[in-house]
Amino acid sequence: MKLFGTNGVRGIINKELTVDLALKLSRATGTLLGPGKIAIARDSRMGGEMFTHALISGLTSTGCSVVDLGPVPTPTLQYMIPRLDCVAGVMVTASHNPPHFNGIKVIGSNGIEASRETEDQIEKIYHSNQFKSAEWDKIGEFTRYDSAIDVYLAGIKSLIDIDKIKEKKLKVIVDGANSVGSVVTPRLLREIGCSVVSLNSQLDGTFPGRNPEPIPENLKDLSAAVTAMGADLGIAHDGDADRATFVDETGRVLWGDQSFALIASRVLAKKRGSTLVTPVSSGRLIEDVARNAGAKIDWTEVGSVVVSHRIEEINAELGGEENGGVFYPDHQPVRDGAMTASQVVEIMALENKTLSQLVSELPIYYNTKVKVPVPPEKKEPLLEALLNLSKNMNRITIDGVKVIHDEGWFLIRPSGTEPLYRCFAEGKTQETADRLSEEGVELIEQAKKLV
Ligand code: MG
Repeated sequence: MKLFGTNGVRGIINKELTVDLALKLSRATGTLLGPGKIAIARDSRMGGEMFTHALISGLTSTGCSVVDLGPVPTPTLQYMIPRLDCVAGVMVTASHNPPHFNGIKVIGSNGIEASRETEDQIEKIYHSNQFKSAEWDKIGEFTRYDSAIDVYLAGIKSLIDIDKIKEKKLKVIVDGANSVGSVVTPRLLREIGCSVVSLNSQLDGTFPGRNPEPIPENLKDLSAAVTAMGADLGIAHDGDADRATFVDETGRVLWGDQSFALIASRVLAKKRGSTLVTPVSSGRLIEDVARNAGAKIDWTEVGSVVVSHRIEEINAELGGEENGGVFYPDHQPVRDGAMTASQVVEIMALENKTLSQLVSELPIYYNTKVKVPVPPEKKEPLLEALLNLSKNMNRITIDGVKVIHDEGWFLIRPSGTEPLYRCFAEGKTQETADRLSEEGVELIEQAKKLV
């Protein structure tokens, strides 16, 4: 059985993700990444404390000492790992998954999620039961650390123009999804001079306020609150606050690539010849922004972990994803919701513009997303067939097949978790996007006949 998915181990609490699994996983992690100190943290999900206790037992049994940061965002834990001289970190979170899920994510000594290779090694130890057991007098120590949020927020504040933001006296509504975004972002924004109203700010693993995925259908209350209270913007986090989604002053929810583009155009323009790392699923908006800033794009496979590792490897100036994940390595090379929030607020203050004005300056592209059912055993041969069929097309094959035309592009790739292929198309008009999407689906259908 494969434990790790695209972003750690995730499963339904007490069904797929059990205390036994958490205990064994932490014993395997301590065996591989110890000896040394390991930092742990959790979001507000149900089972967070239960799994934390399993992790403490498992990790200390291998001789690792454990420092618990408590309920804080994933990026707060990531920020603290190198600063507390830890050899690794473990986060209990299922990010934006539905409420009945939880998960466990292993993070390396540099604060970046463990690579696929490290995960494979942990899995190997997990399945072989070859755990290290410390001698009776070498069992690891357990301590708590209560200042993670102070240190983390001081780090963010050191990178932004607080005086300018204070002058603007922005009114911001923060929707923390009843999770750990609520313990950092409202405080951060208040400390940099914004007036803040919090929504869904009590930590509650049943997620009574909304589903933790920050997409428009889950943000209706936030949109309504922004317009009703005449706020300048709204900010919504996902369950572990590594992402931020924005609502402009008219109540409109921005697409992830729009906020990413606002930040990218400013960060990349600071230095000629900067590099932006982004997955092949990113579109023309990001290409336009990078080109205008004189930056080059380094394309990767889809997945935030790949982006982080690539940023570190080539020393890139910025990373980002079309879902709104922004990686700002001057702060840290991982997605960070509170950092992203303060960057957008800073842009509004420095340029003295409303969020809707800033967005209206960006080019507009339209997209179409379609799913095509493909039985699991056909997923791999189908990709081979697609690579063959598209041989003479203008394409990128880093992850699936991205076919590029003058008027737009489409990307077809197998879903990591479901028996289907996704076709994502983008064009200057909705008609173009729809047509390119049909072209992509047609290519999948052709390939299906060959496997
Ligand atoms: Mg997340």
